Amino acid sequence: MKYHQFQIKLSQPALTGKESYYTTKAFEKNEVSNYGENIRCFEQHIEKIVGQNKMAIALQSGTSALHLAMIMLGVQKDDEVICPTFTFIATINPICYLHAQPVFVDSEPETGNMCPKLLEEAILHRIHHYKKPKAIVAVHSYGMPAKIDEIIYIAKKYDIPVIEDAAPALGSYFKNQHCGTFGNFGVFSFNGNKIATGSGGGILLVNTKEEKQKAIAIANQAKKNVDYYEHFQVGYNYRMSNIVAGVARAQVEVLETRVKWHNQLHHWYKNLFSNTSQIELKSVVNDLFNPNYWQNLILFSEEKFRDDFKNELLNNKIECKLPWKPMHTQAIFKNCPAFVNEVSTSWFTRGLCLPSGSSITENDKTYIAQVIHKLI
Ligand SMILES: *Cc1c(COP(=O)(O)O)cnc(C)c1O
Repeated sequence: MKYHQFQIKLSQPALTGKESYYTTKAFEKNEVSNYGENIRCFEQHIEKIVGQNKMAIALQSGTSALHLAMIMLGVQKDDEVICPTFTFIATINPICYLHAQPVFVDSEPETGNMCPKLLEEAILHRIHHYKKPKAIVAVHSYGMPAKIDEIIYIAKKYDIPVIEDAAPALGSYFKNQHCGTFGNFGVFSFNGNKIATGSGGGILLVNTKEEKQKAIAIANQAKKNVDYYEHFQVGYNYRMSNIVAGVARAQVEVLETRVKWHNQLHHWYKNLFSNTSQIELKSVVNDLFNPNYWQNLILFSEEKFRDDFKNELLNNKIECKLPWKPMHTQAIFKNCPAFVNEVSTSWFTRGLCLPSGSSITENDKTYIAQVIHKLI
């Protein structure tokens, strides 16, 4: 079934009306390259939202921000980088761009994110059998905060830097601190399906002015600040366009409202499934976690029940998707070390992501409820 045939889509953003205002202004001022007011205001607004004295750099995608973070950490050929197995492949691809090796770690069952216990096992095993991992990538999958305090504690214990892939977690907090600000580097995505979009785009969070200057330079073909073309290393063309930043700028202005809206949608789903013991809507386990609820994920007691449910939603033109297929089960990563339990595979076989886009209307909800009530 093709995407456009769905009556209700999985993750369609909602526009505010100000996107075209900011982009038009960029055209009027002839600021159509990768500098200008939109980029400046967008970066400043992100810095204000996340706090912690972080500096934000606007880039072309979350993937390029992850790639740049790994370059900044000096990840090289044959280095190992620890990452979750239950994630979107964009977390892993930049490791491969650098000819480094992913080492996969499975999830804990409360948030679905990297299991701190298994993480420590993996670190000890790799130190013992090969060499110390060069970096850890922690992911806040679907906007649900990982147990990032425990992950950072272990990372510090072994002196390994952390990149936080908070691509889907703009507006998510752990212990009242914004996701993406715990690690050495943090990443957000402004892809078309995220809680705030630029039509595409990403942010890299760094700690110092020096890091910001260096990251921007590498994202700009690693050109030295001299009056001829002198390059200090292999570079990239990764900076965000000021046109795209106009869209992202308008979207982050309403982030708070969006997060509130997603929380309401989550509680609406919770209510919908409250009398169904075979379906568990993944939610916070305690109030240290404050997710943006970008996506709503349900787990079924049985795979067959999930498949029937999924087919019925699709037949009724309601888009839904299976959760990530664990990376250690992907053919392209079959030779990578993996530290697994049953959690990621179990979520893949029993899970389903439900429509959660900011553009869902009250009518859509009534329709979804009708279809689901018939099923349960
Ligand atoms: C969306 C997403 C990305 C990729 O971001 P892009 O902007 O699409 O490159 C990376 N990691 C996770 C966990 C994501 O959800």
